[in-house]
Amino acid sequence: MNDYAQKVLDGLKARCAHEGEFLQAAEEILHSLGPLLDAHPEYERAGILERFVEPERVIAFRVPWVDDAGQVQVNRGYRVQFSSAIGPYKGGLRFHPNVTLSVMKFLALEQVLKNSLTGLHMGGGKGGSDFDPKGKSDGEVMRFCQSFMAELYRHIGPDTDVPAGDIGVGAREIGYLFGQYKRLTGRFEGVLTGKGVCYGGSLVRKQATGYGLCYLLEAMMQANGKSPEGMRAVVSGSGNVAIYAAEKAQQMGMTVVAMSDSRGYIVDEAGVNLDVLRQLKEVERARISEYARRVPGSAYHEGASGIWGVPCQVALPCATQNELDAADAHLMIDNGLVAVAEGANMPLTQEAVALIQNNGVLYAPGKAANAGGVSVSGLEMSQNATHLSWSFDEVDERLRGIMHRIFRAIDQAAADCGQPGNYALGANVAGFAKVAEAMMAQGIV
Ligand code: NDP
Repeated sequence: MNDYAQKVLDGLKARCAHEGEFLQAAEEILHSLGPLLDAHPEYERAGILERFVEPERVIAFRVPWVDDAGQVQVNRGYRVQFSSAIGPYKGGLRFHPNVTLSVMKFLALEQVLKNSLTGLHMGGGKGGSDFDPKGKSDGEVMRFCQSFMAELYRHIGPDTDVPAGDIGVGAREIGYLFGQYKRLTGRFEGVLTGKGVCYGGSLVRKQATGYGLCYLLEAMMQANGKSPEGMRAVVSGSGNVAIYAAEKAQQMGMTVVAMSDSRGYIVDEAGVNLDVLRQLKEVERARISEYARRVPGSAYHEGASGIWGVPCQVALPCATQNELDAADAHLMIDNGLVAVAEGANMPLTQEAVALIQNNGVLYAPGKAANAGGVSVSGLEMSQNATHLSWSFDEVDERLRGIMHRIFRAIDQAAADCGQPGNYALGANVAGFAKVAEAMMAQGIV
């Protein structure tokens, strides 16, 4: 590792010893930046890396709410405003019991580079709470969202910080959050993305991350003389990203044979029936085990990580961080894996990434591969600012263009650094270069 990057990483490890996910993400990024840092000694004099790994602002707050039984509940809320070097903070909100400051900081740091790769002017941030929407009534979710926004509203705005959804935050939660923001501020403005289309949302936002993932996979395979058509695919998760990744994968001629949730996975050799899955997940909020009861010929297995034992050529991990480890990677390589594109953020452990790359499997890192969601969020902000709404096809075409441009940028950066095909390195270098240039231009802030 470059000496300067190593020094900064050592300092970070001493200061953030208990922030495992954040250190994992930071280390992966800092490892890649050697060639760029060698070419720019002025970055060290300007303390670019020290500032790059330190969030501009971390907001933590209490979220009290009353459950259906009349009991007071208290959760913890966060917003990490990591970098505004190239635009207003932008990044999702996650509601999940395993949310900690470390998880928020890792996601926000990844978001800084991801947003840079989109070519749009968006800085990076992330937020959320350890609240678990699972099993809560609509009324409880609404009261929680209102309390969360009662604090968050003073820190966000269409030109300062624009949150969106993530795990546990979908159309329902965004609606409640937006309603409360409007009530508190008296303003109807583009302060959140992922809104319903009837009140300022963009067509294709719901599909954007999953579709974008497949567009990037398509570009990566084409550049390597391959095609996704006819391949067997496994998609982990069955949430927003997973469902629309599976939909686009099937449209591209892949057969999606397995999907999962946090408890287990289904195998359907005929190809997962997405009408049934969407009904279960988007309408009934049911467990994926129910799929096997409704679709003859399919099977359900307990234990989410077992999904990686289902032989496939294309793997699209779309659930959560560190869901695929070295043992899984070994198995998948033995089973003939050709390509992995990350729909989730940091779904592969560092050891798994190394194994995949060293065995000639094409690998697209999340910060490039799942940038479709934030890209269409950026397009939603443009539509809000101009009071226009674009058609589904127009947004979808722009999304495809952005994802193919992102692939070209990371491909080029990897080649320029003398490591062609190392798209993880390419994504870090291409994303960081723009942020560093903006930081240099703006002085020590
Ligand atoms: P959702 O809440 O819609 O879905 C998450 C899915 O993952 C659920 O099916 C959940 O199952 C499953 N899951 C959670 N933990 C595990 C686990 N340990 N093993 C297997 N499955 C698990 O979230 P999203 O689809 O929005 O987000 C998924 C990932 O994509 C996250 O990493 C997120 O940061 C990333 N992402 C999302 C974007 C977006 O636009 N939404 C944009 C870019 C990245 P269960 O219901 O049982 O919990």
